[in-house]
Amino acid sequence: MNGNGRIAVVTGGASGIGKAAVKRLCADGFAAAISYNSSEAEAKALVSELSSKGFKAVAVKADVTDSVEVNEMIKTVKNVLGTPYVLVNCAGIAEQKLFTDITDLDWARMIGVNLTGVFNACRAVLPFMIHEKRGRIINISSMWGQTGASCEVHYSAAKAGVIGLTKALAKETALSGITVNCVSPGAIDTAMMSPFSKEDTDALCEEIPMGRIGSPEEVAEAVAFLASDKASYITGQIIGVNGGMVC
Ligand code: NAD
Repeated sequence: MNGNGRIAVVTGGASGIGKAAVKRLCADGFAAAISYNSSEAEAKALVSELSSKGFKAVAVKADVTDSVEVNEMIKTVKNVLGTPYVLVNCAGIAEQKLFTDITDLDWARMIGVNLTGVFNACRAVLPFMIHEKRGRIINISSMWGQTGASCEVHYSAAKAGVIGLTKALAKETALSGITVNCVSPGAIDTAMMSPFSKEDTDALCEEIPMGRIGSPEEVAEAVAFLASDKASYITGQIIGVNGGMVC
């Protein structure tokens, strides 16, 4: 059985990178809270799969843009599993649009999910982590937050914001025994890549030094490392998992 004070909350945990992180953290002995918004069926299926293997996992609903829901979600995790030691902020959305076509609503939604969502979850969990004087926050940014992507200005801005939040929060919480880091994926084979045609993906692969897109499991390895005791002196860092595309 997993757990024993090793509790991990993963937002966006029902699919893609979040799902791979949940599975990887369970394999490392964590009890996992799979935080979902619209993916209830996927979250519950993942709980069943993990439970059948003897792992402890629960599904908890919260729209990360809604601070009230996020606060309630973290309190539920605390009551059901215990105080979270690890928070992985993985919930996110992407959209490709010309800059001049981005509407007020597009902008607000992109910043709301990808940046305010991270703020909401960090703020909800931190009082408990500070009380325990231990915690690991792992934010999933993107290589586009490091370099900027054409036709993804709102996405790039939100993900760059996540990097800024990570660096600043790492400094503020270091003496409280809490590390805050980013994993910054490149092109990863999840539903988020589905708008891209095979031709688009092939063209992208030509720009990636390793010549291929990555798997969610490869990103989950970096998350697991940052959550592990091996990463005890690492904070405020951005770890790229991008096949060499951004160095
Ligand atoms: P995904 O679509 O499978 O995962 C995103 C998850 O976030 C989904 O489960 C979705 O339901 C959830 N979500 C969306 N809006 C939400 C909300 N308001 N509240 C709560 N949950 C919400 O795609 P993914 O590739 O696994 O994405 C995970 C993270 O990785 C995202 O932050 C994404 O920006 C980032 N990322 C992905 C790639 C890639 O190529 N796939 C590259 C760089 C960064």
